[in-house]
Amino acid sequence: MNKQILLKQRPKGKPETSDFEIKDFEISEDKALKLKTKYISVDPYLRGRMRDEESYIEPFQVGKPLESMVVSEVISSNSEDFKEGEHVIGMLDWKHEQSHDGKGLRKIDKEMAPLSAYLGVLGLTGLTAHLALDTIGKLKEGETLLVSGAAGAVGSVVGQIGKIKGCRVVGIAGSDEKIDHIQSKFGFDGGINYKTTSNMKEAIAEHCPDGVDVYFDNVGGEILDATLQNINKAARIINCGAISIYNETGTPTGPRPEGILIKKSALMQGFLVRDHQEEFQRAIQELAGWLKSGKLKYDETVVEGFDNTPQAFIDLFDGKNTGKMVVKI
Ligand code: NDP
Repeated sequence: MNKQILLKQRPKGKPETSDFEIKDFEISEDKALKLKTKYISVDPYLRGRMRDEESYIEPFQVGKPLESMVVSEVISSNSEDFKEGEHVIGMLDWKHEQSHDGKGLRKIDKEMAPLSAYLGVLGLTGLTAHLALDTIGKLKEGETLLVSGAAGAVGSVVGQIGKIKGCRVVGIAGSDEKIDHIQSKFGFDGGINYKTTSNMKEAIAEHCPDGVDVYFDNVGGEILDATLQNINKAARIINCGAISIYNETGTPTGPRPEGILIKKSALMQGFLVRDHQEEFQRAIQELAGWLKSGKLKYDETVVEGFDNTPQAFIDLFDGKNTGKMVVKI
């Protein structure tokens, strides 16, 4: 028997482990590949897929397995494209083992980088950081880059690319340890613990005395509102994530941004990494180059055990991770 994780019911507000079900199933033998799961990526955006609403990706179905980016080992193969013992990455079900036709899977090399890195710094979160800065941020040397979710998978890479490009980089994160860490390990110039700061507008002004030229927003909500009060003329605001409102049940409201955007001729633009697939190969090469040269470092929070996957996902909303949250099977 094999195990899988299903969506038992759609979460109301913050997800709970009771929204998920771990269930045995019999693996089908009708597809070319049999895969054994090695690492599962848990990501904040999966919360959006748990809602029954139209989005850029189809919602999860109640009673069906969840899926995310997964690294697996090929344990048997009738395909010419994949050999037993090779490792692959793709959008795969949360299952211990599964059969698969091979479509959409990409081979990865564990000699090049640890397998889990393909889910983070060399995967979608690293690509998100790099490509959103490229397409919207357009950093110039000497500018001030502010990033929220700064100790997370995307944010920590954003800050380091900012330093590579010669910017002053300030991060926002949820604990003093994280603020120390982004400065000592990743070279950020400053940081703000939003959980202990009563006036974010003033704190941002203090840490960004020349104003904010680029804001890389991973969290949305009140931190975005406070940042908008500090932007410079021709600032670029990248709406990458909005984790602070993912669990809201109503329609979030807040200060209206249009007045500031007009006054500052600023750009505020949403970003979806999946819209930039033609750039992935180039961006991965660049990220890998920075990694090799030591200009780019990364963190992972590795949770052990398949059954702990739902809890690892929930823990993202409590900031229990530093860097990429992955589950090791
Ligand atoms: P992270 O590794 O940053 O993990 C999430 C972090 O969010 C937590 O560690 C926590 O850190 C912080 N957080 C949780 N709740 C709140 C809150 N209420 N207010 C402020 N911060 C909060 O995740 P990722 O790097 O994978 O993703 C970062 C963002 O980017 C997410 O919003 C995600 O959805 C988005 N994303 C978007 C993509 C796109 O294509 N648009 C692709 C990939 C990710 P702390 O301790 O600091 O609170």
